[in-house]
Amino acid sequence: MVDEQTKVVIIPEFLTVRQLANLMDVSPIDIIKELMNAGLMVNINQQIDFDTAAIVASEMGFEAQPEAALAEEEEEEAIPVKQQFIAGEAPEDLVPRPPVVTILGHVDHGKTKLLDAIRHTNVAEGEAGGITQHIGAYQITHQGKHITFLDTPGHEAFTAMRARGAQGADIAVLVVAADDGVQPQTKEAIAHARAARVPIIVALNKIDKPNANPDLVKQQLADVGLTVEEWGGETICVPVSAKYETNIDELLENILLVSEVADLRANPNRPAVGTVVEGKLDKSKGPMATVLVQNGTLRVGDAVVIGEIYGRVRAMFNDRGQRVEEAPPSMPVLISGLSDVPAAGDILEVVENERTARLIANKRAAERQEAAVRPKEVFTLDDLYNQFQAGQVKELNLIIKADVQGSIEPIVTSLQKLGDESLQVNILHQGTGHITESDIMLAVASRAIVIGFNVTVDPAARRMAESEGVDVRVYDIIYKLIDDVDKALKGLLEPVYEDVTIGHAEVRAVFRVPNVGKVAGVYVLDGEITRNSLVRVHRGEEVIYEGQVASLKRFTEDVKEVKAGFECGVGLANFDDFEEGDIIEAYRKERVS
Ligand code: GDP
Repeated sequence: MVDEQTKVVIIPEFLTVRQLANLMDVSPIDIIKELMNAGLMVNINQQIDFDTAAIVASEMGFEAQPEAALAEEEEEEAIPVKQQFIAGEAPEDLVPRPPVVTILGHVDHGKTKLLDAIRHTNVAEGEAGGITQHIGAYQITHQGKHITFLDTPGHEAFTAMRARGAQGADIAVLVVAADDGVQPQTKEAIAHARAARVPIIVALNKIDKPNANPDLVKQQLADVGLTVEEWGGETICVPVSAKYETNIDELLENILLVSEVADLRANPNRPAVGTVVEGKLDKSKGPMATVLVQNGTLRVGDAVVIGEIYGRVRAMFNDRGQRVEEAPPSMPVLISGLSDVPAAGDILEVVENERTARLIANKRAAERQEAAVRPKEVFTLDDLYNQFQAGQVKELNLIIKADVQGSIEPIVTSLQKLGDESLQVNILHQGTGHITESDIMLAVASRAIVIGFNVTVDPAARRMAESEGVDVRVYDIIYKLIDDVDKALKGLLEPVYEDVTIGHAEVRAVFRVPNVGKVAGVYVLDGEITRNSLVRVHRGEEVIYEGQVASLKRFTEDVKEVKAGFECGVGLANFDDFEEGDIIEAYRKERVS
């Protein structure tokens, strides 16, 4: 029983000293003093767990209760992504594994330099020897704990992995130059990290520069929803200088802290599952791949299948070029012994033997070839409603690109009003500028639709959207944009078609064919006429018929198409009242929205 004097405080699983002080409405100093009495030296922004917080709370006359419901909810949300490779494992088989970290940020803000600084300051610890190799990822040891870094900076690699269904990283370090602040790619990186639901740690870089302005950058970060801890937010922000290797240790400590909270685990005692970080063809060793082991342990001699590629691990090398016999969870290794070079994001699985590996790989190749002749499954505004009805979609993910910031706000505000509690409009990313490949990749990875306002689509982005089946829509009237999304949500979107003329032919003779009626002997003036064409018959200014081709013949042969400069016989469906001099216009309908 809680007596009348005891106040109840609801405490989450982890919280900072400051948060605990706020919850109990006491001074953080008092909490720090209590913790010191218990032998713990902490600062105001440090995280403590529920048990520690509960002891402090009871010392200070509070009854602590766990924020169980909320914790459960958060866990549920995190599982599908973070723990995709350990679903089905018994909890007792799982042990902590090192975090996998990706470095994101605007160009020239120092991502590469920071990766070099981290590696340089931490190779030594007990693992000296070997020469640094660039294999796409490396592992360091800090305070006796491992951390893996993906060393292809930028969100392209990370999102490419996600687009293929692999969880690229557990934590994103967002590099922001203190002399340049939040820039377009910074915002893009934030959108990518949020879409992947990975925690973001800000590395405020270049603090050595005389024109560095950390406070301004913190304000800009707050404006994009990343309020730093010292301003009462939840975002960890570590000022660093990659150039002078300043504060790198503190950054690593925070990475370890976040990783502990995330409670990353894997089962090392099972056959490995991993993700390809990069692939290459080595002149002497043949196809090779850097694999990040995500669950289980990968060993030399294991039979593996990676998509349609199979093999047996002949040799494994770590990021120092040293041979290793086995790779536990979160360890990146370069492997040889594959039938071909895999792509980043492909999933590696260990199977019983090489024969099984080959069978699976071949079956997948056959299935892909079969699928190639079927139209690709696309995610468009039109079929959104059907998928929603079938319970497959509960949110509509959108990426918005507009010409100027001023147009984005009204669009976003109106779009957000459209959803309801059963179907939410979720704006993953908004920005100014053209629609680029990066937008398409984010759309693929998150099954989103890309909406442009007064912008164009880069040719490369257009190609990617077509091959990946991403719906990209460009508007120049806000009302029309909102209306289309609204209709899609209500399942009312009517496709719009436009007529595209493909050729003209002139009627030069009219024949009567028994049992068929009259057919026209025509000369194709330009373009072509095909058996599937829709047609209009023009007589002078007038259109006297609209319909489709019923028969198309060259001499007595049925043909599929007749090009400009050739003669042919044309029969039309439900029309035979031809006259010499009529012009037959062939066209097809093309979907425009
Ligand atoms: P990336 O494009 O984000 O990978 O940026 P880089 O790592 O290539 O760095 C861009 C430029 O900024 C290079 O000229 C670096 O030397 C410089 N740079 C990176 N970090 C720092 C830093 O902490 N301080 C200073 N003064 N310059 C830095």
